[in-house]
Amino acid sequence: MQRTLITGGAGFLGSHLCDRLVAEGHEVICMDNFITGSPKNVAHLIGNPHFHLIEHDVTNYIYVDGPLDYVLHFASPASPIDYLQLPIQTLKVGALGTHKALGLAKAKDARFLLASTSEVYGDPLVHPQPETYWGNVNPVGLRGVYDEAKRFAEAMTMAYHRYHGVETRIVRIFNTFGKRMRLDDGRALPTFMGQALQGHPLTVYGDGSQTRSFTYVKDTVEGILRLLQSDVVEPINIGNPDELTILDFAKEIIALTGSTSKIVFELLPEDDPLIRQPDISRARTLLGWQPQFSRAEGLRLTLDYVREQLRDLGDGE
Ligand code: NAD
Ligand code: UDP
Repeated sequence: MQRTLITGGAGFLGSHLCDRLVAEGHEVICMDNFITGSPKNVAHLIGNPHFHLIEHDVTNYIYVDGPLDYVLHFASPASPIDYLQLPIQTLKVGALGTHKALGLAKAKDARFLLASTSEVYGDPLVHPQPETYWGNVNPVGLRGVYDEAKRFAEAMTMAYHRYHGVETRIVRIFNTFGKRMRLDDGRALPTFMGQALQGHPLTVYGDGSQTRSFTYVKDTVEGILRLLQSDVVEPINIGNPDELTILDFAKEIIALTGSTSKIVFELLPEDDPLIRQPDISRARTLLGWQPQFSRAEGLRLTLDYVREQLRDLGDGE
């Protein structure tokens, strides 16, 4: 049986990875300090003898008993409001946390996978973004704490690969959505769905002409696991190239929910990237991966989850 450590395993993406790997017969150690995630995300796995939940801040020395085959480093605040509220923790987990996770992978002779991000491209001047693009990031801007932490994490990962011979993989994840996103995490999708279902106005930032490309979580998880099993050391974009403006996205969610909500325009946050679309040629060629879920399909599946969350909050339609 393969043993896998997932840092940030109680978060949105990490918990889906825990599910997939437990289902595939791995023994999974989920390590999290619950700063933006929650034990609720993995509560259904508690009691499974192949699943272990450990509360730990991975910016401190990581101790894991026994062998490890894989270390998947997903710990990091990830939504803009989270990392704006937690700037130092975000920099620390990207820098110190990545260092500790790499040190553990080296000690255990385990394969290491870093959850990087499309944010390494910043506000891109090349469109769509191939992995060969070096990015356009403002190091001293508000988003710099996340973008630069991830850029440092990529550099650290490559240094451990080149200097220590650690088997490493780097996935640059584009905007992913699905169940277990926090309704209050400030990202466009949970915010818009929550607003639409409650009949509140949808808050579009700027004039809404900025674009994003949204990927359903099952596709992202499949891409990550294909990369993990491949021999590809260079970074790989995982994302759905189906790009749209945020204004059209808001309209799509109003239509999907049948809401009567209006759209209101608010100030565009500092350094908010104006365009984003992954070039996934590498993932297609090297991993045989491409998204299987259309945005419409993913949104329908996610809507049920958001409805349930609102009902639980006693604040539903
Ligand atoms: P999330 O906030 O739901 O999950 C992150 C998890 O990491 C949380 O459970 C949090 O408590 C934990 N964590 C943070 N700091 C920690 C620390 N010091 N020690 C231990 N645990 C810690 O976010 P997510 O959307 O699931 O993102 C997971 C990873 O994927 C992040 O590294 C993020 O940068 C990356 N990513 C996500 C997306 C996306 O669209 N969701 C896109 C690009 C990259
Ligand atoms: N956005 C918006 N209204 C909201 C939340 C987000 O218009 O209530 C915009 C945000 O400015 C950005 C896009 O939606 O242009 C995606 O934002 P998100 O926070 O989901 O992800 P990121 O900016 O990290 O891609």
